[in-house]
Amino acid sequence: MPRLISENILVKTLVNPIYLEVAVPVPLRHTFHYLAPINCPVNLCKTGLRVEVSFGRQKLIGVILGQTESTDLPAEKIKPAESLLDTEPVLPNEVFKLCLWAADYYHHPIGEVLHTALPVLLRQGESTTGSYQRLIPLWTDPEPLSKAPRQRALVVALLEQNQSNGQGLSKAELKDQEFTTAIIKGVIEKGAAEWQTFQDAPKPASAPPAASNHLPPSTEQKRALDSLKTSGTHLLFGVTGSGKTEVYLQAIAEVIAKGQQALVLVPEIGLTPQTIRRFEERFSVGVVAMHSGLNNRERLSAWRDAASGRASVIIGTRSAIFTPMKSPGLIVIDEEHDASFKQQEGFRYSARDLAVKRGHQEKIPVILGSATPALESYANAINGKYQMLRLDERANKAKVAQYKIMGIEHQTLSEGFSPQLIELMRVHLEGNNQVLVFLNRRGFAPVLHCRQCLWLSSCQRCDAKMTYHLSSRTLVCHHCSSSFRAPTQCPDCKSRELVPLGLGTQRLEAGLEQLFPDENILRIDRDSTRLKGALTDKIAEANKGQRGILLGTQLLAKGHHFPNVTLVAVIDLDSGFYSSDYHAIERTGQLLLQVGGRAGREQKQGTVAIQTLFPEQPMLRCLIEDGYETFCEALLKEREQNQLPPYTFQAVIRAEAVKAGNAINFLEGLSNSCTHHELVELLGPIPSAMEKRAGKYRAQLLISSTNRRYLHQTIASAVKIAEKLPSARSVRWSIDVDPFDLF
Ligand code: ADP
Ligand code: ZN
Ligand code: ZN
Repeated sequence: MPRLISENILVKTLVNPIYLEVAVPVPLRHTFHYLAPINCPVNLCKTGLRVEVSFGRQKLIGVILGQTESTDLPAEKIKPAESLLDTEPVLPNEVFKLCLWAADYYHHPIGEVLHTALPVLLRQGESTTGSYQRLIPLWTDPEPLSKAPRQRALVVALLEQNQSNGQGLSKAELKDQEFTTAIIKGVIEKGAAEWQTFQDAPKPASAPPAASNHLPPSTEQKRALDSLKTSGTHLLFGVTGSGKTEVYLQAIAEVIAKGQQALVLVPEIGLTPQTIRRFEERFSVGVVAMHSGLNNRERLSAWRDAASGRASVIIGTRSAIFTPMKSPGLIVIDEEHDASFKQQEGFRYSARDLAVKRGHQEKIPVILGSATPALESYANAINGKYQMLRLDERANKAKVAQYKIMGIEHQTLSEGFSPQLIELMRVHLEGNNQVLVFLNRRGFAPVLHCRQCLWLSSCQRCDAKMTYHLSSRTLVCHHCSSSFRAPTQCPDCKSRELVPLGLGTQRLEAGLEQLFPDENILRIDRDSTRLKGALTDKIAEANKGQRGILLGTQLLAKGHHFPNVTLVAVIDLDSGFYSSDYHAIERTGQLLLQVGGRAGREQKQGTVAIQTLFPEQPMLRCLIEDGYETFCEALLKEREQNQLPPYTFQAVIRAEAVKAGNAINFLEGLSNSCTHHELVELLGPIPSAMEKRAGKYRAQLLISSTNRRYLHQTIASAVKIAEKLPSARSVRWSIDVDPFDLF
């Protein structure tokens, strides 16, 4: 008679109804009310637990944010939740609080924020604590299997493992040792082994090693390590090769020794097998990496290891900032200036800023490390909000590279290279070195053009030109990915005089093959590394240090340690100094130094040659001659004069629509009806720098204020209005707080 019982409970709850406030993963900025599931006492429905609810025709998994007795809806409209999924909160309180804070700060729907914070399988209802299976040997003697050598080998492996941990082998370990499902099945059918279910992963075999394998820290490193014993945010500012990673490793070792955990965030491009290996070599056990190569099951398992405290070190990219830790001790953000820490779509959060927030909440130190800190981090360190920790010397005594500006205003270039640069490259190659050529534009040429009628290969869906790719003879739009066979005749005047204009990495490669026919040339960009594993292979090839030319985009520029590169040639960064977005110059300076940091990483002196049409560009001169700090000071002065961040706070509301005019109309309506404090400025709306992209017309409204609180009040008011404006129906709009760029 279960039905009767459940109806009884329903009646009871109706007498004194308490509603659950549930955050549901939908793009709406409010919670939804449900009754406790039938058969489930409401006092079990605690804050932070997942519930399955019916939402329209779907069943969704939401998180309980609280309970309330009041609701705007008629009581009979409120449905019971389907079922309660947890007995304990799905996220520890600190991470839960971080999510609530982020939803508020970024004005993003809480249901979607919580979804971002959870691994996919938890979003789908999987349990937070894992039971998992291990294969246990049942025989003590493998000999009866002598006719099936692989099955015999499996039993031998199981017996060996069982002697040390008594728990046989996990699925992952079996896969590592290349025991196929068929072999396992064979052994089980013969009764030689069986699966057993365990509730928790085995403890690491031993405590992490003592600090014995550390390099003796330099005076500067020692000072940094001492400072890192205190909570707060620390900016570890040191040139590439100054020993920042060594500082992270030693700080983490101390954290582990106290029985705590460290979370390390690295840029997307930086989470390479080499990085992971460097941590694993130091801390033989307890390192988990949350990289894109993991499947959902592996990701959940890494998450559980972090949450349960089994993992001592968690390395991941942006979204790993939400990883729960049982006993957090330290957060490290490596290359803190990197663009990949800011999510640029959907829930637009900065993992770096959330790390600072999380460190503050959990009262643990946060290290932001970079050779080229973001302007706002630098400013925070100068004004004392963060602790400034400098590493001014290269740890392994490698010399800092020399920068050479090579003006090309009056020069005839061969294949994009000036005669002096070609000569310099020749000298370095003849010394049996590697030369790295950097151009941040892939493809053959940025545009195809008709000599007769001046036709240009424009994208139909974007305000952009289509890049010519020679090997596939296609035109590709790098903004919307449209691609076509390149025409052989001008589509307008039918002339056959179509010529590629400008430079891309493929064209440089072809040029270099002519200029240096006897040298090895290795191109590394997104096109040359599409196949799985290709990037790793090519980087490994470059790492061999064999004489030759490495050529590529930023894929090649960041984080790698190529021991034999002595010359870095930067082909064209000019546009970065003349952009309409004030962020561009900061980013270009960072990129230039990051690329330059690839030169002379071992004992040989490195040189960085910069080809430019504007050798007198003052900010370029400032960066090269006076260094990054002076460059930052100059930029900060300019920002202060123009009342730009970090002296003001900004948010952008962007809109896009299929029909021209709709986006700007919507933003105009918004701007007109949005009330705001006099310290808040609304700028625009204006069409975006690339107004049309992937077939949509785009516009933006910039909100700016010297006062964060007033800025957020204005955004909140704008959101309320936007959610009701009729013109919102024909657009897609989004809010970006602390935008990374204004395009
Ligand atoms: P960064 O992270 O700043 O680029 P790393 O920590 O990778 O610098 O250090 C650069 C090189 O210097 C590495 O080869 C590292 O092993 C070495 N190194 C770092 N600290 C020391 C030290 N205290 N003594 C000797 N070598 C060091
Ligand atoms: Zn033509
Ligand atoms: Zn396009």
